[in-house]
Amino acid sequence: MEVRRVQPYRALKTYLCPGCNQDIQPRAMHLVVVPLDTPDLRRHWHEACWQHRDRRRPGRLR
Ligand SMILES: [Zn+2]
Repeated sequence: MEVRRVQPYRALKTYLCPGCNQDIQPRAMHLVVVPLDTPDLRRHWHEACWQHRDRRRPGRLR
């Protein structure tokens, strides 16, 4: 999968972070994670939640 950093000026919507189930506010720096085989299933994450995803959801994304 591909992980991209979304710059604040490009974050115009509110997204739901799957790591903490809380909103990512517009104009907040965050990450978008795109599965290479299913790009439609991309998800937006807080950067800290993505880095700690193994602790929160063991084995789900690796
Ligand atoms: Zn989060």
